[in-house]
Amino acid sequence: MRIVMLGAPGSGKGTQAKRLEAACGFPQISTGDLLRQAVADETELGLKAKAAMDAGDLVSDDIVLGMIRERIAKDDADTGFILDGYPRNRQQAEDLAAVFDELGLTLDAAVLMDVPQDVLMKRLTGRRTCSLTGRLLNIYFSPQEELDECVKNGGELLQRKDDNEETIGNRLQVYERETAPLIDYYRSAGILQTVSADGSVDEVYSSLVGTLGL
Ligand code: AMP
Repeated sequence: MRIVMLGAPGSGKGTQAKRLEAACGFPQISTGDLLRQAVADETELGLKAKAAMDAGDLVSDDIVLGMIRERIAKDDADTGFILDGYPRNRQQAEDLAAVFDELGLTLDAAVLMDVPQDVLMKRLTGRRTCSLTGRLLNIYFSPQEELDECVKNGGELLQRKDDNEETIGNRLQVYERETAPLIDYYRSAGILQTVSADGSVDEVYSSLVGTLGL
């Protein structure tokens, strides 16, 4: 199974892709995670990407294409993978199609995680990661016990650097301008599937699994 998860920042792509990974064994490949790792490791690529990421702009197409090529060539991606946050514009969608052609692969589905605009802001500004477990939480939506558990065990609820209101505004605009047109691109290709992603993590996951026929 090879799928692309499409959706605005805050639509829950990452959370759902991680659940699918745990259930099906196909790796979740997130260009955002790969880039954050490169920034943390202070690699040459990370240094190049940092300014664009801090501003909520897209990193250059060549950088992310190189990362994707390298990542899908790894053994664990042999039988399938879930792309999360890639492609993010028309050029990247065409680059991905070219890589698939070259490797003789087929894209099974592009799944649109559909969430009303007003819910996105709360999801993004409230998003936190537990420093101990890496668990994704939200100060508005997660059960209080889960938030308390992290802190009680000596962890911190960390906020992503680009989850502040100014950067979030720009990321949403970039999504509308650059990424949303891919909805029609994949609809025309006949592989678009839409999941209503305005519910609890469990509800959305059930719809996702149902939509993909898993
Ligand atoms: P994400 O975690 O997917 O929200 O990505 C965080 C940031 O990484 C984005 O705001 C971009 O700056 C950068 N990024 C992630 N994926 C891509 C991509 N496919 N193309 C360009 N920039 C990306």
